[in-house]
Amino acid sequence: RPAVELVDVCKVFDTSATPPAYAVDHLSLKIASGEFFTFLGPSGCGKTTTLRMIAGFESPTAGKILLEGHDVSGLPAHMRNTNTVFQSYALFPHLSVEDNVAFGLAVKRVPRSERGDRVAAALDLVRMRHAAGRKPSELSGGQQQRIALARALVNEPSVLLLDEPFGALDLKLRREMQIEVKEMQRRLGITFIFVTHDQEEALTMSDRIAVMSTGVVRQIDDPVGIYERPTDRFTAGFIGDMNMLSATVLERQDGVVEVLAADTRLKLKTNAELPAGKDCTIAMRPEALTFMRDSADDAAFAGKVESAVYVGTDRLYNIRLQTGEAMTVRVRNSRADSVLRIGEKVSLFCPSSAIHL
Ligand code: ADP
Ligand code: MG
Repeated sequence: RPAVELVDVCKVFDTSATPPAYAVDHLSLKIASGEFFTFLGPSGCGKTTTLRMIAGFESPTAGKILLEGHDVSGLPAHMRNTNTVFQSYALFPHLSVEDNVAFGLAVKRVPRSERGDRVAAALDLVRMRHAAGRKPSELSGGQQQRIALARALVNEPSVLLLDEPFGALDLKLRREMQIEVKEMQRRLGITFIFVTHDQEEALTMSDRIAVMSTGVVRQIDDPVGIYERPTDRFTAGFIGDMNMLSATVLERQDGVVEVLAADTRLKLKTNAELPAGKDCTIAMRPEALTFMRDSADDAAFAGKVESAVYVGTDRLYNIRLQTGEAMTVRVRNSRADSVLRIGEKVSLFCPSSAIHL
């Protein structure tokens, strides 16, 4: 039984508009118990709305939501076995850390005698027991977010919802919290549903990621699948850096297509329905490309170095192809001939296994 199931869930805020603007557009998916599941997408794509519907703060315009197999339509937020952590910690400034965490227990009418132990255990989880008597204003941003987490965990929810919880933290602290919270989730075995616009954060923390744009889930897969096997142009462009070229299918035979892109013929394996004449997109990571200085190979993209950036471990080159498209190549500095001059002619190669169709 999935922890959460969305069946054709839609949300339209302004029902008078024609055509209706879907904030969430026919979303169907299942989230397994104990899974770390992330909604990833740009601002405005419907992540928060989706989370708020699962939490019960917002009701779907159509479709249904099941928690552990039960339809929760009409069930208010406090009756669901979920808890939410928001980007703004929303701690009570006049209450101590301990009382902030205990507050949720009082709301859920947990007997007073049990509260002390549960609060202490929740504070242990986030390694903040030493701060039990302090006020939120005496804590750093990262510590306040830990208290917000403890306050959500103290209720022992079966599903924890987290909406960009590290959004207000600086990069270094954010990275620490990502690893810490992922580790905590693994230990507790609670289902975490996480929302972020940060692809690196999603790749770091998730068991599976749903990539969203304009209310629609584009792809659901584990981090490796999302990064290495994007199935659509939006996902390919949103996750990491990707070079994309328009291509046309020349020929198809036995699961291999020959395509023409930027005046270059490439043979690629595919299961996709791509008859001759069909337009498609090929996508290649900057780190998957290699260059050669003198080559007339027709399986390579010919171009000139337009600009160069040094990024420590690597160099990034922008290459302007003869056909006009721009490509980025990422080269390890440890490679002996890694330095290219501006204006230099190069040929770019990509192994066919690293070309996404
Ligand atoms: P995200 O969290 O991915 O940034 P949201 O779920 O907040 O996106 O928003 C999705 C879309 O729904 C946006 O176009 C947003 O403007 C709209 N929206 C969100 N909340 C409301 C609301 N309360 N009233 C009207 N429109 C809303
Ligand atoms: Mg949001």
